[in-house]
Order: sequence, then structure tokens, then C-alpha cells
Amino acid sequence: MECLRVKLYTPTGIFKNPLSIKGIEVYPLPPYSTVIGFIYRAMGRKWQGEHFQISIQGDYEAIYRDYVWFKKYNFKDKELEKLPLQVPILYNLKLLIHIRAEEDLVREIENALKAPKELLFLSGGEYPVKIEEVKRVFCEKRRIPEDDAVKLKYNAYLPTHCLRNISTTDKGVLFNLSYFYENLQKPKVYSWIDVYYFQKGTVIYGDIIFDEDKNPVFLTYSLKETPVKPKSEEYVRFYASNWLVASACVGVLKVLENHGEDIEKFVEEKTLKIPLSLWGSIPEIYADYLIGDIELAKNVLEIAYKQKKKKEDFNPYNTLIYSKLNDFHSNSPFTNQAHEYIRRLKGVYSEDTHEVLKLVKESFLEAYQKFLGSGKETSSLCYFCHEREAKNFVDATTFTPLFASLETVRNFIWDPIPVCKECEFLLYFTAVGFYKSAKKYLFVYIPDDLLETYRLNLVFSMEEEIEQEKLGRMWKVIEHILKIEEQKSRWILQNIYFVEIEMVGDAKANIYSFHISPTLAKAIRSLIYKYPKNLQSIFFDFLFYIYTGRSLYEFLLYFLSGFTKKDTYKNLDANTIESRIVQAGRNSEYIGKNLLFFINFQEVLNMNEPKNYINWAFWAGRELKELYSQNENTRKKLEPLTYRLLEAVRRKDKEYFIHNLIRAYLEVEKEIPYIFKEALEDKNFSMIAYSFIIGLNSEKRNKEGHIEENDEG
Ligand SMILES: [Zn+2]
Repeated sequence: MECLRVKLYTPTGIFKNPLSIKGIEVYPLPPYSTVIGFIYRAMGRKWQGEHFQISIQGDYEAIYRDYVWFKKYNFKDKELEKLPLQVPILYNLKLLIHIRAEEDLVREIENALKAPKELLFLSGGEYPVKIEEVKRVFCEKRRIPEDDAVKLKYNAYLPTHCLRNISTTDKGVLFNLSYFYENLQKPKVYSWIDVYYFQKGTVIYGDIIFDEDKNPVFLTYSLKETPVKPKSEEYVRFYASNWLVASACVGVLKVLENHGEDIEKFVEEKTLKIPLSLWGSIPEIYADYLIGDIELAKNVLEIAYKQKKKKEDFNPYNTLIYSKLNDFHSNSPFTNQAHEYIRRLKGVYSEDTHEVLKLVKESFLEAYQKFLGSGKETSSLCYFCHEREAKNFVDATTFTPLFASLETVRNFIWDPIPVCKECEFLLYFTAVGFYKSAKKYLFVYIPDDLLETYRLNLVFSMEEEIEQEKLGRMWKVIEHILKIEEQKSRWILQNIYFVEIEMVGDAKANIYSFHISPTLAKAIRSLIYKYPKNLQSIFFDFLFYIYTGRSLYEFLLYFLSGFTKKDTYKNLDANTIESRIVQAGRNSEYIGKNLLFFINFQEVLNMNEPKNYINWAFWAGRELKELYSQNENTRKKLEPLTYRLLEAVRRKDKEYFIHNLIRAYLEVEKEIPYIFKEALEDKNFSMIAYSFIIGLNSEKRNKEGHIEENDEG
């Protein structure tokens, strides 16, 4: 057989799915639909229903994480809102693509790629794609015995039907990828295809197609072979292929385990399959879970009732159900206060708790019936399961505050997401899947393994005495991740995420996601206990900086600016991270050697072995301060000197920094210490400059007159 082989190169690639922007999930290679779209743009025409087979392989040099601005339009306030999100970007990406099609179509694609009709980009890429080769190649299937097994030279997608006759040494990672459209009319719906992703180096054997240069080719099925999805009569299936569904599945598993079910049998890789009979009683099981233990419920109701001045303001439904769901679903059939089945419980209280709970449960089940009965014609398949017919679009009524209303604030999600009844009800379990701590919710997501994701999230809720509350729990999870490090492929490790949701209002939540790299884990493990005790007020801001990969030098710049320019920030409103850090600096009466913690931490992250430079520069600063303090004339000059040095580091202007140092040392008739020669090197500049500035402003003694030198913790 003949295939068209195409080689592409792009300096950067980001391959997202429609939920990526809320949780930053990306693919290690472009999904089929991205490459197909690329080909049609080259041809300068729209897809007209034709089909071809395609094989996608590729390699990248590195993944780095960078901020990308996502924009959404706020219809209500008529303004464009922007959200910075950290995304993994594939750097120096090479793609090897094989296409098999009818001769006419192959010719059209070949001509188009040799002379594209427009500048071509791959999804989120910033740079045009370079087409390095377009060539017809002869391909044939060969049987490779186990003894002659071959190693993959590229990372590859292997469609599941290929794996029937191919064996591999590795398990691979299952992805469900968008493929061709299913229809020509709007709204267009993708068809989806299950593939396993294998990393280069994986050993394979069996019936493999090779091109004439010995590249294996893993074509998608041809139209004739289109697999018919087995209609499962006994199970309702959900696919945890993004953090949102995963957290909902974890919620369901928690509820079922609490109900006494053996949950392991409901999970296969990242699929949750619930027997139909059990699914039928899940609303009732969920209601029992939310209401909880009867003794506890009795107490909670009693306290809530006593607290109400006006007894008609008391509502047992709100106390037991609403309070647990409203952070995620404040406007839903289960929470909206306008519903009759919620209103009718106003002021209902009785010593007989059983009676009250019965009424609450009835209301919940009525809400479920109402939910089942609502819906609209969408003529689309559900985005989440690709299996059942969608009856709604995910929007504010299902999911406030996480999903904004399409009428007021257009979502970060680019299209309305069609959802079936089953998946929509599943989303109501996210509130249980997340771990709640004060006004924050936390979830850890492992892309390839739902059961592992479930277990890892349970670690959060274990009730143990832990010193630094959140970090303690977090640390347990990190430790766990480090333990599974050996079993997981690199791609999975790099894509284990923490999703944190911070409630900032009834209808507003901030979503952060972050990732713990091995270097960050190392820095946390070795240094966290040295975190300055006097800076507890900005500990979470520090965590935010390190989790999101922002530089601690920036953190120090804010802190030192606050410290040295106290008057400037007198009226600063401390409600952003940056202003809290500035305020902490402003509130510090003195600074000491323990601030070097941030420099040491950053240098471990930079994989720059902490050098003696940090201490030397600190002491050089301290000595210069003492020399300056010896007479009135120079003492006054200390503050302006600090400003100029901070300005120099802010601008990363090494010459200006050194120039000021030379002047400063001339002032006290001293020679500039030799160590500053090292500061001229890029990788040392911030480290030496900040250590020096901290030394220059540090106090030898604190207020009580204790020597502060050994205060490092
Ligand atoms: Zn669905």
C-alpha cells in the first residue's frame, strides 16, 4: 500500500481539550482532529464528509511551563476578562504523519501541503509550522517475532484496533481523542477514537506496518472497519479523562464506599462503570450520604434551629443538603431556594429527627425527578461520555460558580458543552470529590488511573494531627506521588495536577492548578522547615508562588520594596497576593538572615547548587552597613543606595548594580569585595544581589536585644 508521509516541525506546541483551560490538560501529541484541521487549512477548503486513515507519531525536546493568557468576554460588563494560566508547552516538536486515502484525495493533500494556501499553525502554537517533507512512501505489513522486537523511535498513538495484533512492553496511556466530524450540518460533532499513547523506546512486536524507511505506521481504522460501540445494557459508564469528571467519579466512589459497596469492581483504568440497578438507586444513596449519621444530623439541626432568631428562617434542607452543595452548585434544582420542594421545609423542626430527615430526603428525591424531567433537544452526543444523547448544555444552573452563565460571562470554554442526564447528575458529585478546607477545595488528578486518583484524594481527608495543616496533607500526597514515580510513564508524572478552587463569593470562584516537579519536591523536602517563622502571614502566598512556578526573587522584590518604602505603601489594600507580600514587608520592623531562605529555595529550584556566595554576599552587605552607620553623613545615604540597588535588580541591570556598588565602597574608602565579579554572571546575579541587599538592610539585634544570627527558622 502507499501512504503519504508528512514531516512537520514547530518550535512550540500546546494541544488542549475543551476543558483544558479550566484544568490544563494537554496531549503529548496533537489529537487527530488537530492534524485533520491543519490539512484542510492547507487545502484552503472545508471538510465535505470524506474520510482518510492517519497515523501520528512525534517527539519533543522538553516540556516547559509558561503562562498563557486566556480571554473571555463579559457580556454584562462589556469587557474582556483575562486569566493567566500555566500550561505545559512542548518544545521543539517534530511530527511524523502517515496518511492513507483514495488517490484523488491523496493528490489534493499532497499538492496542498507542498504549496499551502495560508500560513499554517498547529492549534495553540505561536510559530508557523515548517513542513519538512511531503513524500509518497511504500508501506507493507510485516510479522515481527518477539525475538526481533523493535523499539519505537517516536512517541506514538496506537488506535486500539492496532493493539489486537501488536504486543508491547509497556501499558501505554489511554486517550479518547477527537477525530473527524460526524456530520456536516451545525452543530458539528466530533467522532471520538480510543488510542493508547506509547513513549519512544517502548518495545513492540507482532503484525506491524512499516514504511520504506522502517518507520512503523499505526493507521486509524478505515471507514469500512468503523467499530460499532458495544451497547452496554448492564452498566452506565463514565470516562474520567479530565479533572472535572475525575473529581465527580471520585465523589461517586466515596459515596458508594460509604454505602458499603466494594468499589474496586466499578473501576477499569479511567472508566467508572456502575451497574444499571445500582445507578437507579444512586440519588437515594447520595441523599443518605449528604444527610449523614443520624446522631450527627440531630445535633447539627438542633444547633442551627437554636441559632435562628426567626424560626421560619430555619430550613433543615438547607442545613443538611444546601450547605454541602452550594459552593459548586448554587443555582441548581437541588439548591435553588425558589423551588417548592425546598421552600415547603421552611421552619420545619421536630424533636423526632427521623421525621425531619424523611422530609428532607423526599425533597431531594423530588428535586432529582424534576432534574430528570427537564432538558432540551440538542441533537448532539454528550461531550463527556461520547455515548449517550445530550439533553442539556453545561451552564450556570448546573455549575455555578465554576461555569459561568453563557448569557453574562462567556465561558473560558469555547463552545457550549452538550451533556447527557447521567453525566450531568454525575457532576453533582464534584462537591464530594474535592477535599474541603476552609474556603478552599483541593483535588489531585492522575490522568491514567481513576482508582489511584481516588486513593490519593482520600489521603487529604485522613484525620491526623499535622503540624502545618495544609502543607502536612499536601506533603503526604507529594510523598505518595514520589513513591509511584517509578511505575508511571514520564508523561503521566508530568501531568499529575493539583486543582485548587478558592471560593471568593457566592457566584465566583478562582481556579488554580499546579504541578509538583521533582525539583520542587526536592526543594520542599530539604528546606521547608527553614521557612521564616515571622512570615507565617504570607506562607500561602509563598506556596502559590512555588506551585505556579513564579520566581521567589520577584517575591523578595515585593517584600523588600514594602520594607524599604514603608510610606509609599501606607494605604495599600492588601487583597492581592502581591499587595499582601508588600504589606508583610512594610509591617516588618527589621529583617534578618532568615530571609535568605527564599534565595536558597529558588536556587535549589534553579538547580544551581546553593553556593557560599549567598552567605558571603549577605555578610558583605552587613559589613558595608556597619561602615555606613559609623557617621551621620553616610548613614543617610544607606536608604537611597538600597533603592538604587533594588531598582538595578528589578531591571536586571548588572552594570547599574556594580556601578552603584563601586560608588558605595568608594564612599567608605574600601575596595569592592572580589566576590562581586561573580555577580556579573547571569545565573548568579539575582542570588548575589538579593543576598547583599538583605545583608545591607538587616539588623544585628532584634528589639529584645537578642542576637539574631542563629535565627534561621
Ligand atoms: Zn454523558
